[in-house]
Amino acid sequence: MLRSAQRAAALVNVLGAEGDDGAEPTADSLAALAAVLREYGETDPLDLSDADVADMRAVAAQLREVFTAPGVDAAATRLNRLLAEGCGPVRLTAHGGGSPWHIHLDSADTAPWAEWFLASSCMALAVLVWDRQRPPGGVCASARCANVYVTGGSGAERRYCSPRCATRERVADHRRAKERRPSQRDQGRKGREENR
Ligand SMILES: [Zn+2]
Repeated sequence: MLRSAQRAAALVNVLGAEGDDGAEPTADSLAALAAVLREYGETDPLDLSDADVADMRAVAAQLREVFTAPGVDAAATRLNRLLAEGCGPVRLTAHGGGSPWHIHLDSADTAPWAEWFLASSCMALAVLVWDRQRPPGGVCASARCANVYVTGGSGAERRYCSPRCATRERVADHRRAKERRPSQRDQGRKGREENR
């Protein structure tokens, strides 16, 4: 279930990268989306139409609100709304014998991509809330990044979407601290001037 939640975050990020401005997906954005789907086990042919991508972008914007929820209660409330509005009843499927029996909340194994994206993400995030009793994820603390992430199972609170963002912000913090703190030599000179 953690992997499904991580897939939800990865899809929210790749679908949000170009904004929801109604523009047709470019070949690059389609390739990036397909790469994420394949990374999480979807097999070719993916058959993604421009309309599928537009619908998935709308779902990504809805799911982002779960990741930006200020606390576990808000995350649960937002998930409940999406579960009520966009997800069907619980059903079991084995994809015609191609996989072990597991739960889906979409209407059929052949449901459109956007419906599958919403339903599978809501289920995974809802199970994480249930299991951990805290928000299932968050938004990268870097001002230059809008990516969402799934919080780890335990340990320190996560703040950044990736090691890349964490490193970049750590370096920037260090530089800012250095600029705020005058060098020893400047302080010495200032001290002498004040003593005159
Ligand atoms: Zn980031």
